[in-house]
Amino acid sequence: MTVHSKLPQPPVADPVSAKPVVEYETLEAIFDDIRGHPLYDHEIHGCLNCGICTATCPSAQYYDYSPREIVQLLWTENLEGIYDAMHEKIWACAQCYTCAARCPFENSPGGLVMILREVAIKHELPSVKEVLRPFSRVLLKVVSTGNQLAPNMITREAFPDWGPNVAKVDAPLMVLRKAIPMPTMHTLDTAWEVNLRTSVELYTIWEASGVLKQLEQVDENLFDVVSDVMEEKRDEWEEWLEEQEEDDDD
Ligand code: SF4
Ligand code: SF4
Repeated sequence: MTVHSKLPQPPVADPVSAKPVVEYETLEAIFDDIRGHPLYDHEIHGCLNCGICTATCPSAQYYDYSPREIVQLLWTENLEGIYDAMHEKIWACAQCYTCAARCPFENSPGGLVMILREVAIKHELPSVKEVLRPFSRVLLKVVSTGNQLAPNMITREAFPDWGPNVAKVDAPLMVLRKAIPMPTMHTLDTAWEVNLRTSVELYTIWEASGVLKQLEQVDENLFDVVSDVMEEKRDEWEEWLEEQEEDDDD
């Protein structure tokens, strides 16, 4: 099974054209960004091509994906192969890091995939928008409530890839929620309560780590919405701090 069968694929070279579809300079610029990533040397130290990473990789069981292949492409500096993999295969990794725990060379294929994804965003490869589009509502949820997933987001429609077993979660959620302790707030809108301070701290981390910059590149509309929510939350936080100061003065 392919990862996302409708993803935009890298352009196929015209066999009668002397000029490659993707300029070698572009491939080199992409590889320079991968190799120049601050974590690159930490994540790759060589490769035996032993396949232990692929044998233990859950994504390799279900998709046309192999962490061994990703590491080999990088280690042998196969620029065309790296470019091709960045259009589909890198999005199959579940970021579980089982591979990193098993590799005899102490490589982290999962970490390398994360670097490849960052560089794919930076170079605005067409697969990026396609792959990340379904996550926009998850991101909005994180920004507005501090929760990644709320019970009311767990529906058949939202998770078609779960197949027929999704019926098992299509349960009377409100009844189930009432059986869970108070921190769930007995609501379906949010999984648990995240305080304002934590949310505001998260925004600072996203800004400092470049996550928001990446979002702006991937989805400008979502970036605008998210920025508005963040501004409102920050105002609320400032107001709360001022109230505390006034209370202390009294
Ligand atoms: S990355 Fe590690 S585990 Fe995977 S093939 Fe290379 S040496 Fe083996
Ligand atoms: S981090 Fe990615 S490549 Fe490594 S085992 Fe998990 S799914 Fe596979």
